[in-house]
Amino acid sequence: MFFLDELNPQQREAVLYTEAPLLVLAGAGSGKTRVITYKIAYLVKELDVPEENILGVTFTNKAAGEMKSRVAKLLQKEVSDVWLGTFHSTAVKILRRYGPYVGINNNFSILDEDDQTTLIKEVISELNLDIKRYPPGSFIEKISRAKESLIDPVTYGEFVESYYESIVAKVYQKYQEKLIQNQALDFDDLLMYLVKLFRENDKILSYYQNKFRYILVDEYQDTNYAQYVIVFLLAQAHRRLTVVGDDDQAIYSWRGADIRNILEFEKDFPGAKVIRLEQNYRSTQNILGAANKVIANNKFRKGKNLWTDNEIGSKIKLYIAKDEIAEANFVAREIILLQKRENLNFGDFAVFYRTHAQSRALEEAMIKNGIPYRIIGGIKFYQRKEIKDILAYLRFLVNQYDGISLKRIINTPRRGIGDATLSKIIDYANEKGINYLDAMKHLVEKGELGKKASKEVEKFIELIESLIAYSKLHSVEDLIIEVLDKTGYIKELSELQTATAQMRIENVEELISVAKEYSRQSEDLTLESFLNYISLMSDIDTLEEENSSVVLMTIHSAKGLEFPVVFMTGMEEGVFPHSLSMGEREELEEERRLCYVGMTRAKRYLYLTSAEIRTLYGHTNSNELSRFVKEIPEEYIEPVTKAEVTFERGEKVWHSRWGEGVIQEVRPLEDGETELVVVFNDIGKKHLLAKYAGLEKL
Ligand code: ATP
Ligand code: MG
Repeated sequence: MFFLDELNPQQREAVLYTEAPLLVLAGAGSGKTRVITYKIAYLVKELDVPEENILGVTFTNKAAGEMKSRVAKLLQKEVSDVWLGTFHSTAVKILRRYGPYVGINNNFSILDEDDQTTLIKEVISELNLDIKRYPPGSFIEKISRAKESLIDPVTYGEFVESYYESIVAKVYQKYQEKLIQNQALDFDDLLMYLVKLFRENDKILSYYQNKFRYILVDEYQDTNYAQYVIVFLLAQAHRRLTVVGDDDQAIYSWRGADIRNILEFEKDFPGAKVIRLEQNYRSTQNILGAANKVIANNKFRKGKNLWTDNEIGSKIKLYIAKDEIAEANFVAREIILLQKRENLNFGDFAVFYRTHAQSRALEEAMIKNGIPYRIIGGIKFYQRKEIKDILAYLRFLVNQYDGISLKRIINTPRRGIGDATLSKIIDYANEKGINYLDAMKHLVEKGELGKKASKEVEKFIELIESLIAYSKLHSVEDLIIEVLDKTGYIKELSELQTATAQMRIENVEELISVAKEYSRQSEDLTLESFLNYISLMSDIDTLEEENSSVVLMTIHSAKGLEFPVVFMTGMEEGVFPHSLSMGEREELEEERRLCYVGMTRAKRYLYLTSAEIRTLYGHTNSNELSRFVKEIPEEYIEPVTKAEVTFERGEKVWHSRWGEGVIQEVRPLEDGETELVVVFNDIGKKHLLAKYAGLEKL
């Protein structure tokens, strides 16, 4: 087993301990994810465990994909039968098969937050609630928390404690009815129905207990109650369960994650072994030391000893800018300098922020300095109107109960089917308990629609039926092209001849590439499985392995990742820690864990930046330096001051647009300014004012 040599003794012990419950509780960068990867490879290669008997659960689809390719590398063969995915993707796979046992069709639709909001808004208006007093978002959150705790609407109703909760109960009830009508599941339903399926069907549960003889879960500290129950139910019989996690990296309690799952693992699985990994392989001594100091301020933690024998490394650079624009410019310039000096790729740099709103200034600085960048979660491709429209067509072709999709497409592009006709169709279908396609057919046959409407609906039925037939025989990419063509979607856009319309066309074309890429990579080429894939895509999953652009993201989405250079921006009280989380000790500790997660993503260089004055959400504030920065002892930090630089003849300089050059002359001017004559390698001689040229010394 040559690859076992690539593990330290504790990691190896964790890999070899296969037949009983095991918790690997260890700090950042200590190889927890590596243990899971190597263990899967070990099970297959050494213990001859058939691939289909292994279930690996990771936090994102991207992480699952990476794990799959690492395992394949270790085994030097493809691994296609190990179930590797998130809790949600695992649930979808099982429910597509056994959904009818819990009252849902196999071809259910999966709603995103946008669709949820639409449904909740409908409920709000049907219950005659004032949307201003009851914003949909807070219902969505309440319902989500309830579902994660496996509380159904009826149970919720029984335990209401306030007037507001009684309203939530009503909304929840009605929302759930609508989901069922639409044969649609939201994200939390995926888990809740899976638990229901397991709890109510012994045979199915024991089938999966036998199937998944080995279960491995990464990032266990961020599981919620529903996920905990799923693991518990599946692993209870054979107890061959490995979970890995770090209590110091629990950062999703605001989304229902419960740190007790990891802290009480030994209670849930009596006799469980606990292995601690103490060597960090990721970061320099300085970075790790500073991160350890910060997290030591938390009271609610198990406490651990994490060390590294990596190099001491540079000190952590702290830069306090005048405002957020100066901060962003600093980040951009440091990236350029460091990239040149250390011969790094832009893909080696990550810039973090606490909330998305902070990204704008950073983005602008990247553009201004000509730095290629990607932003995670900023522009949501799958939230764009045109993409949602086309996907709604595809969804309706699969699930004709999906009224949410029907509403999107019935008059897109415009075909003169009005709201009145649509309501008739919906009411009729709901009344008869039939799907919307059949409802439309009945109404047309019975002549219950106006003459013009009837004709249009008939055409629409034909369109849908022909597309359904087409979908059975063709690939997803061809189907998308057919949808675009037969519906006249592209035609309508091209006739507009505006820049926005052009961008929409390009996005739709991008969707075709997504389908192509999908069919290249996956085994199940059905339309259903393509739609699953899209629905389960999270922001971070779109982060491609590439080395040519800087990545901008929230600290939350950086979990589990690592980068040679990390910038943590907005290190200010009220920004980070976030103003909403500064009151309660527990919330503050979660912020501090988030800070620990952020710092420990860095391998070689870590920058902390802040602004004296920041405009965010339209308000201008002057914030104090973040307490997290103050918690780092001085010896780890090197403040960066960007004093006005003076140039000398013969010095090498760098300009963001013109690249490298040499100072040929320095000329003091009468007004006190300095003029520089610079000879750039690419474009030759330029006369510049020193103060404004934005030159960096090399
Ligand atoms: P996090 O807490 O951030 O999720 P982790 O504990 O999962 O971190 P890994 O991502 O598995 O840690 O490992 C961190 C880095 O250290 C990776 O680059 C990994 O390849 C490397 N690494 C881990 N263990 C070893 C080892 N024994 N020898 C060499 N490199 C290692
Ligand atoms: Mg990890």
